[in-house]
Amino acid sequence: MALLIFLPAYGCNESNNDSRTNAGNLPDAKSSKTKVVTTFLPVHLFTKAVAGDVADVEILVNPGTDVHEYQATPDNVKAIATANILVKNGLGLEEFLEDTVKNAQNPKLVEIDASKGIKVINDIASVEETKHKDQDHKHEHTDGNPHVWLDPVFAKQQVINIRDGLIAADPGNKEAYQNNAAAYIQELENLNNEFQQSLNTTSNCTFITFHDAFPYIAKRYNLKQVAVVKIPEDQLSPADVQKAINAVKKYKVKTLFSEPGVDNKLLTSLSQDLKLTLYPLDSLENGETNPQYYFQAMKANLQNLAAGCK
Ligand SMILES: [Zn+2]
Repeated sequence: MALLIFLPAYGCNESNNDSRTNAGNLPDAKSSKTKVVTTFLPVHLFTKAVAGDVADVEILVNPGTDVHEYQATPDNVKAIATANILVKNGLGLEEFLEDTVKNAQNPKLVEIDASKGIKVINDIASVEETKHKDQDHKHEHTDGNPHVWLDPVFAKQQVINIRDGLIAADPGNKEAYQNNAAAYIQELENLNNEFQQSLNTTSNCTFITFHDAFPYIAKRYNLKQVAVVKIPEDQLSPADVQKAINAVKKYKVKTLFSEPGVDNKLLTSLSQDLKLTLYPLDSLENGETNPQYYFQAMKANLQNLAAGCK
């Protein structure tokens, strides 16, 4: 493959800016930097934090697109074909990836699995099962629940995996990766402390979600998630509403959490009927591509968890 020919850098080394994150929008002049392709927002944020300005970091699943049912584009294949490194969340979340990587035919590609070594939750007991079981099974994550990035402690593990993977693939920039990762990890540790302090009086608080994204954060801080819907839906079905009502009867539910993109009018009236307050809780599958966005969104999550579980 002619991909590793050293092309002169045409002075395009301006620092990492967000216009470069779109995998379909490569700058015309080839950068001499290591090119890292990431799958979706959380691993993109972590990789950008570790890479700083020594590597170019792109994203395949643009924010606003659902990673759970994502279909790869020809631009995604091109991005992987010309990349040095690919960073994924793993745990079966990126179902589109295997075929896309195959189609890209890039034998030099180094893959980093950000979830390596993380102990996953397979238990789906707290999810309210639907009647249409086989429908759900189509989307079931065979490798366990993939939403590990929503626990700051596992996020730290992901940053460490990304750091070590980048160093192994690009040892020339080892020091930068180490320093950048150390700064971000410090922020993640501070965040974990904030969660522990704010949620130490809300033990066993049970909350309902409409996306099975929060079992790790619940487990870490002694809360209990009951997911009525596994993967976010554009609209709640009458069956989902019934499941929420059943869950409230079955558990001592303190609050309901919803994400942007879910039918909020229906949720609002449901929360009124159930006499439970509805708060937003962000799975970070969508949002801004600035690495600090993780902390911004997670601090908002903490406020809402604390308010809902008070
Ligand atoms: Zn999800």
